[in-house]
Amino acid sequence: MLDELIRTVGLDHVVSPAPADYLTDATARGMRGSALAVVRPADAAEAARVVAACYRNDIAITPRGGGSGVAGGAVPDGGIVVSLERLNRIRSFDPLVWRIQVEAGVTTGRLHQLARGSGLMFPPDPGASEQSQIGGNLATNAGGPHAFRYGVTRRWVTGIEAVIAPGELITVGGPVRKDVAGYDLLGLLVGSEGTLGLITAAWLRLVPAPEAVHVAAGVYPTDAAACAAIERILGSGIEAAAIELLDAAAMRFGGGGFPAETADGALVLAEADGGTLEAAARRDALLEAMAEGAAAVQQVDDREAVWRWRDGVSSRLAAAHGAKLSEDIVVPLDRLAEMVAAVPRIGERHGLTGLSFGHAGDGNLHSSFLLDPADPAQFAAAQAAVQELFDLTLEMDGSISGEHGLGSVKAGYLERQWGPAAVGAHRAIKQALDPKGLFNPGKKL
Ligand SMILES: Cc1cc2nc3c(=O)[nH]c(=O)nc-3n(C[C@H](O)[C@H](O)[C@H](O)COP(=O)(O)OP(=O)(O)OC[C@H]3O[C@@H](n4cnc5c(N)ncnc54)[C@H](O)[C@@H]3O)c2cc1C
Repeated sequence: MLDELIRTVGLDHVVSPAPADYLTDATARGMRGSALAVVRPADAAEAARVVAACYRNDIAITPRGGGSGVAGGAVPDGGIVVSLERLNRIRSFDPLVWRIQVEAGVTTGRLHQLARGSGLMFPPDPGASEQSQIGGNLATNAGGPHAFRYGVTRRWVTGIEAVIAPGELITVGGPVRKDVAGYDLLGLLVGSEGTLGLITAAWLRLVPAPEAVHVAAGVYPTDAAACAAIERILGSGIEAAAIELLDAAAMRFGGGGFPAETADGALVLAEADGGTLEAAARRDALLEAMAEGAAAVQQVDDREAVWRWRDGVSSRLAAAHGAKLSEDIVVPLDRLAEMVAAVPRIGERHGLTGLSFGHAGDGNLHSSFLLDPADPAQFAAAQAAVQELFDLTLEMDGSISGEHGLGSVKAGYLERQWGPAAVGAHRAIKQALDPKGLFNPGKKL
C-alpha cells in the first residue's frame, strides 16, 4: 500500500510513521490519534488516485485541512491522513464578477487578504483564519462573528470539486450563482466533516467590502442586562454585522487586554457596516439601543485590535485554570438569556466555573467549564456538566453544534438531537456515498 502511495504522490509526500503534528487538532482534550502515514497529494488528480488506492485496499482516510478544528474531526483513528496542504493554488479570481476558485488547502486568511486587495470580502470569518483552510471551512460549514449578517460558509459556496468513493473526481455546482438542476449534493458535502469525500477545490462568492465599519462596545453590570441589550438591538431592527457576548465570568477570566476602556461586567460587542452614511447611522442606532442598563457604552476605534483580542478569548480562558471544556451550542434567540443564566449554575453543581461567550446574535454560545487539567476529577466533572448543558440545550429546541461540528468528540450525539428516522436518513446517505465506510470513520455519525 505504501509503495502504491509513493508511486502516486512521490517519496517525499508519504510520511510514515505519521508525524505527531498530524495526529491532533486544536481540540485540546489530550486527544492523539494514530495513522499509518500522512499523504500529501499535489493536486486533485493525485488526491483521486490516493482515494482509489485506499478504497481498493480498505484503508481509512482522514481528510486534514489546517488542523484548527475543535471537535477532533481531523484526529485519525488508523488508516492514512490525507493532508490538503499542497493544494494551495488560486485557480481563478474574477473580481469584476465577485468570484474566486480556490483549492482546498488555501488558508482562510490568504483568501480574506486576496479579496480585500480588490475591494471585496469573503464574509465567513472563523477565529483561527491564519491556520484553517477553505477545505476545512467547507467541511465544517464554519461560521464566525459576521455570520450574524452574512451567514455561514454554505451561503458563499457555488461549486465544489471533490473526490468521492471509490476515487471519482466530481464537480457539483460551479462558477454559476444559481443551480437547482440536481439534488443539493453541494449542501450535503458542506458540513460533512470529511465523512462523505475529500474536497479538493471550491468556487466561492465574494461581496463588495463595506465602505465603513464601526464597532460599538457596551459593558453591563449583569449578564441579564447584557442579554437585554442584545434583545433591544434585535428588536430595534438594526441590521448589525455582528453581535458578540462575553458574560461577566468570561470577561473576568478571559477579557484581559481589551483594546479600550472597560469596567467589570459582561460585554456586548456589536458592529455596524455599510456605506459611509449608512454605517454611521447604524452605529448611532446601536449605541442608543445598547445604552440602557449599561455601565459604559462607547465606539471602539481600533477595529482590528478588537477582533484580534476577540480571537484570543478562547485561549485566555483555557489558560485561566489550565484548560476548559468548551462547546458551541445554539439556542433560539428568545432563550438566550435563560441559557446564559443557566451555565454558571450548571458549573456550580459540578464544582466548576461555568461561563459563556460567543456569537450571541445567532444564539450561538461557547458555553465553557474551566478546569485544572492535572485533576482528573475536574475533567470528569466538566464532562458531566457538558451533558447537562446538552440536555438543557435540547430541551430549549437548540442544537448541540452551531459551527464546530460533531467530529469524534460528539460523534453519536446526533441521535440525541434528531429522531431515529432523520438519523437513519443520514446513515443511508453515508452508505450510498461511502459504502465501505472509509471516509473519516467514527466521526459525526
Ligand atoms: C482559536 C480558534 C477559534 C475558532 N473560531 C471559530 C469560529 O469562530 N467559527 C467556526 O466555525 N470555527 C471556529 N474554530 C474552529 C475551526 O477553526 C473551524 O472548524 C475550521 O473550519 C476548521 O478548518 P481546518 O482547515 O483547520 O480543518 P481541520 O481541523 O483540519 O478539519 C476539520 C474537519 O474537516 C475535515 N476536512 C478538512 N479539510 C477537508 C477537506 N479538504 N475535505 C474534506 N474534509 C475536510 C476534517 O476531516 C475534519 O473532520 C476556531 C478554532 C480555533 C482554534
